[in-house]
Amino acid sequence: MSALMPTYAPADLAFEKGEGVYLYTADGRRFLDFCAGIAVNGLGHAHPHLVDALKTQAEKLWHVSNLYRIPGQEKLAQRFVDASFADKVFFCNSGAEALEGSIKIARKYQKDNGNPGRYRVLACENAFHGRTLATIAAGGQAKFLEGFEPTVDGFDHVAYGNLNEMRAAVNDQTAAILVEPIQGEGGIYGGGTEYLQGLRQICDEFGILLMFDEVQCGMGRTGKLFAHEWAGVRPDVVATAKGIGGGFPLGAVLTTDKAAVLGVGNHGTTYGGNPLAMAVGGAVLDVILGDGFLEHVVEVGETLTQALKGLQNAFPTVFTEVRGQGLMQGLKLVDRIVNRDFKRELEAEGLLVAPAGANVLRFLPPLIIENEHVVEAAAILEKVASRHVG
Ligand SMILES: *Cc1c(COP(=O)(O)O)cnc(C)c1O
Repeated sequence: MSALMPTYAPADLAFEKGEGVYLYTADGRRFLDFCAGIAVNGLGHAHPHLVDALKTQAEKLWHVSNLYRIPGQEKLAQRFVDASFADKVFFCNSGAEALEGSIKIARKYQKDNGNPGRYRVLACENAFHGRTLATIAAGGQAKFLEGFEPTVDGFDHVAYGNLNEMRAAVNDQTAAILVEPIQGEGGIYGGGTEYLQGLRQICDEFGILLMFDEVQCGMGRTGKLFAHEWAGVRPDVVATAKGIGGGFPLGAVLTTDKAAVLGVGNHGTTYGGNPLAMAVGGAVLDVILGDGFLEHVVEVGETLTQALKGLQNAFPTVFTEVRGQGLMQGLKLVDRIVNRDFKRELEAEGLLVAPAGANVLRFLPPLIIENEHVVEAAAILEKVASRHVG
């Protein structure tokens, strides 16, 4: 019996090392990693620039707390401001924590502007925002809420992608709208340009904040630093994490000046933005914002999309739909094949993917993959799919 709390049901696989887009077990088996630690290892494994940044910083200083100035924080925040919609940045350690900060901002923004009764956040069905008490309430999914009642108050839900429902749900208690530009855990549903633009209009009309959860779809995953950039929309708040640290725990809340309402004593986190995290975060940004990197994501993302569509055409009795953007792609299986079972078969053939809601196989490869890796993944998918033709 393991001493671990059994919160996960991991595959019976343990890796010893990683190199680029491959993971290796102790007995030398090699796996093509199209899961990337659930969109975290955006630069793959053991990227030399990240390893160097971590090692160099580790020999100098790890942690001092936010009782002292951390120059790396100021520098990295400025780089995010220069590269995005944001005017201000708060660093934390995870996605859920970034969402918690965002929700607090929504409430305080309205309170500061004379609307203390506006505290509710309007979110979407099928959403995922984390596993803390407030973020399971924000996600609104029964399977995560059950057993942890009473549910944190202050969240309302409407169907994802439906502007009419969203507009109709705004009331005099609404503080903000919180949406994933592309729903990840829910099954790779993208709202699209008009949806995100429509949300901006609704927020402007009612004086509420537009908050995007880009924990999964941000940090280059779609071929822009943040997915909302494709829609040309300026949000008020963005929560991000996962890919921002390339495997080092890091999250961030980005806001406009208008929404930068957190002041001294309002919020904090002991580890947030410590020197180690800032060194790695800076190294991640060096690469993602480097010449041609995001263009590469768009190009290889197109290769992946075409490969998945080819598989869907070749196996219409196995796959029903391809959806997603860039290197955040979903392949939906027919009802009779369970995505988790199919995922296990892929694993046995050396391909790692992540399951998602709606019986979807989720492809979140490192952003550094090349076309040849797509070809390799497609061959494994084809092999496993051919067993299920029915
Ligand atoms: C993973 C995820 C979260 C939660 O992030 P953690 O780091 O696990 O707390 C929140 N929102 C989205 C969209 C995510 O994909």
